[in-house]
Order: sequence, then structure tokens, then C-alpha cells
Amino acid sequence: RAKNERRGSVCVFEPAMDLQIREKRALQRELALALQNDEFELHYQPQATTKGEIVGFEALLRWRHPVRGMVSPAAFIPLAEETGLIGAIDEWVLRSACREAASWPKPLAIAVNLSPLDFGRLDVPALILQVLLETGLDPKRLEVEITEGVLIDDFSGAIGILRRIKNCGVRVAMDDFGAGYSSLSYLQSFPFDKIKIDQAFTRKLEINPDSAAIVEAILSLAHRLNLPVIAEGVETESQLAFLASVGCGEVQGYLIGKPGPIAQYRHLTGGATPEPQLAQAG
Ligand code: C2E
Ligand code: MG
Ligand code: MG
Ligand code: MG
Repeated sequence: RAKNERRGSVCVFEPAMDLQIREKRALQRELALALQNDEFELHYQPQATTKGEIVGFEALLRWRHPVRGMVSPAAFIPLAEETGLIGAIDEWVLRSACREAASWPKPLAIAVNLSPLDFGRLDVPALILQVLLETGLDPKRLEVEITEGVLIDDFSGAIGILRRIKNCGVRVAMDDFGAGYSSLSYLQSFPFDKIKIDQAFTRKLEINPDSAAIVEAILSLAHRLNLPVIAEGVETESQLAFLASVGCGEVQGYLIGKPGPIAQYRHLTGGATPEPQLAQAG
């Protein structure tokens, strides 16, 4: 009987599944060509102190598909991870973001996301060194963001690689902290320089007292461990006020600025428009 029910449900969902699989394969094929067709671009989202001073930007990948339009990284990063393209994509992101940041008059930080899968496939520390050399970016300005997924396959291997990254003078941030399986013990055994509180907590700060309690607990632990904290997904003044009141040093979110082309943020990177420069010189 159970078998029949199972068959029945398979029948119902089969056409939809088939379409999904075909759609996915099409996207994967197109993704494989996106790098060579120059369809990727980077958007930049400001990171600020809770007092409002801009301290850096996170580079966020965008795929401008010729027919589909903008495809969200939430949709294509998992596909790139499945097909193994993620390494080449993240290498492109790292190089492009470092080159961009090296051109800013202000020595602001630049944060780049790396997939946990990069660690098994690329020599990440060697790649970082090479890109720093190529672009001339000061290593102190680079921060790589990694989720705790990096710890799952090979904990001690991952720690070794992260140490080598830190030895280059580059900082390592734990992204999406509190989501998934983040364990507090990771903070002790792992050489992270910063934690990014997942935006799920920020979003619920005002509506769920438990979220506020968790955020407060993360901050008090981080203070004890001397770890700087940035909260993601800050959209309202009251979220910002709460975060400031519990000692969160930095914030990122639509309240401070949405991810956008760097041209939109030239005034923050120190890239003055030509007119004022000429006016001053004359
Ligand atoms: P993430 O690294 O945790 O990035 C934060 C995400 O939150 C971004 O989504 C950003 O646009 C969004 N966000 C920022 N502020 C707010 C806010 O105030 N409200 C809301 N609702 N959302 C906000 P995005 O750009 O769609 O990226 C999604 C994820 O894709 C990233 O999460 C990251 O895990 C991944 N990703 C993006 N770029 C790259 C990349 O170059 N390489 C790799 N491996 N992953 C990337
Ligand atoms: Mg990130
Ligand atoms: Mg995040
Ligand atoms: Mg994320």
C-alpha cells in the first residue's frame, strides 16, 4: 500500500520534476559559458561602524544573463558548486574585487566570499598571494568570508589552510554565523578574525525576543574572545540601535546601503568626481 502511494506521488510530481531538472541542466550549461562571455559583474555593499563610518565593502557576485536577466547568486552559486565551476568563478571574483579595491584612494577593506568547496579544489592561500602581488592590494585590506561549511569535511585541514591565509596578513571572517550548524566551539578552535551574525537574527530582532537574546549572547561571547562582530541584513534604525546597545561594532544592510555597482559608491571610496578636483587644483 505504501508502495502504491509512493508511486502515485511520483506520477503527480514527475512532469514538474522533469522540467526542473531540464531547467537546471540548461542553467548549468549557460553558467559554464558565463565567465568566457563576460556575463559576471560585481556589486559592492558598504560595511559601516554602528556610528556610521564606512569601513569597507563586500563584493557580491551578479550574473547578467543575456536572456534571463539578473540571476541571483542564491540560484547559481549552488549550481556552480555542483558542477565544479565555483573555483574558477571565485578566482575571478577575488581578482576583480582586489583590483577594484586597489584603485580606491581610501584604504577601505574589501570582503570576498569563498565557497567551502574552494578549499578542497584550489590552493587558496597561494591564489590569494598571487592576486595580492598582481593587484598590489595591501593584504591588511582583504577579508575572506567563509561559512562554517568549510569545517565539515576536513576540520584540521581547513584550519591549516586558514592559518596560511592569515599568515599572508589577510583576515578571515565567519559568514552567516548562527545559521546552519555553527558551533560556539568553532570560535575557540578556529582562527577567525571576525564573525558575521546571520541576517536571519537581525531580521527577527524586533519581533522575536529569542533572537535578541541570541544576538546578545553572541556579542558577549565575542567580546570575551576579542572577536569583532558585524551584523548582516540591518534594515531599520531600531535594529541598528539595538545592535549598538549590545556592543556590535559593525553593520551591513539596506539601511546603510544596498549592493550596487561601485560607481554608485565613488563618493565613499574617495574617488572624487573630476570637477571638484579641477576646481581645487585651479
Ligand atoms: P552572504 O555572503 O551572506 O551575503 C549577504 C546577502 O544578503 C547578499 O545577498 C546581500 O545582497 C543580502 N543583503 C545585504 N543586506 C541586506 C538587507 O538589509 N536585507 C536583505 N534582505 N538582504 C540583504 P546576495 O548578493 O543575493 O548573495 C547571496 C549569497 O550568495 C551570499 O550570502 C553568498 O553566500 C553567496 N555569494 C555571493 N557572491 C558570491 C561569490 O562571489 N562567491 C561565492 N562563493 N558566494 C557568493
Ligand atoms: Mg558574505
Ligand atoms: Mg552572510
Ligand atoms: Mg549567505
